[in-house]
Amino acid sequence: MRNDEVIGVEVGAGRREQRDWVEYCWITSVEHKTGKGRVEYMVPAMTLKVVEVLERYSEPLRAALQEEIQALESSIAGMINPAERRDLVKRLFQARCDSQRVFLGVIYGKCNQITALSSVASRVAMLRLAAKAGQDWKLSPHQCRRTYARTFVESRMGRQALVFLKWQFKHSSISMSQLYAANPAQDPALYEDILAEYFDIKRDLLESWSSPNQRLSGGAGRKIIEMRASAVPDRERLVANTAMQINIRATGHGWCIAQDTGCGGAGLYESTRCVDCKNGVIDDEHVEVWQGIYAQHLEMLELDDLGPVTNARIRRDLALSAKVITEFGVPLEPRFGLIKNLEDDHL
Ligand code: SF4
Repeated sequence: MRNDEVIGVEVGAGRREQRDWVEYCWITSVEHKTGKGRVEYMVPAMTLKVVEVLERYSEPLRAALQEEIQALESSIAGMINPAERRDLVKRLFQARCDSQRVFLGVIYGKCNQITALSSVASRVAMLRLAAKAGQDWKLSPHQCRRTYARTFVESRMGRQALVFLKWQFKHSSISMSQLYAANPAQDPALYEDILAEYFDIKRDLLESWSSPNQRLSGGAGRKIIEMRASAVPDRERLVANTAMQINIRATGHGWCIAQDTGCGGAGLYESTRCVDCKNGVIDDEHVEVWQGIYAQHLEMLELDDLGPVTNARIRRDLALSAKVITEFGVPLEPRFGLIKNLEDDHL
């Protein structure tokens, strides 16, 4: 949510909904920036608890505001001076707008006015929070929204498995378009922010892949290395255009750039399929994963009851994982001599 939408949260804004035995939680607010009006945000269950606590915390302020509203209504009725009347009507209008808000505060001064938290006050509060945490970071409310969009995409791309997102979205398999379709009353701009972050991540990845210092493996990775040799008049533009059109998915052991069905998802479970697949890119982010795959296959090779077919398969996968690791210039374990022979046999 943007800061304005958080400030706009009113008592009773949270609701729970059961769908296919899954509980979804929503918070309603009013979206001003793009004029969408009343919107709902999917939130983790904990957010509803937090809002309930805040509702109780701000209850005395709302009660005081109600008293002020009643006093203002009676004063205005008997008011003759137009200037004074105008000031009171203005205040009454503001007090009525804030009367159900959850984020209330008091402006201390002549009248100790109760009012909804302002954007400026929340920015100052965030700066104070950062300072109290010993940081000189200029923390601002909008950074939270961007961070959310970034972590959402990072999580989707397999870089961070955020438990928080799992709480919020319930099903890790649910796609962004399904999510949006789940409730058309949501803020579409949030999904645009998420897509913008997805574009940025793809562009950063493509940029790093086009750098001569980045070692790559995988069928597509090797192709990219070959293509680096050709002169491109405007690399920056090429990267941006490609990022716009290309789909990049994380497999956990690399990136898959298949634009249609590819292997139909088999490479997610059978990592070694991606080593020579024309859609596979493995960058240095995944070297440790391949060292793990390699070590597991070495362990399996030591088992003596798997039979010749399984052993042949282990040897093949061992050679493939060794191929990836050596493409990054990383030495293998001392038993590499054995693997080298296997590689010669199988590749
Ligand atoms: S095998 Fe190819 S198409 Fe399948 S996930 Fe791996 S890279 Fe993608």
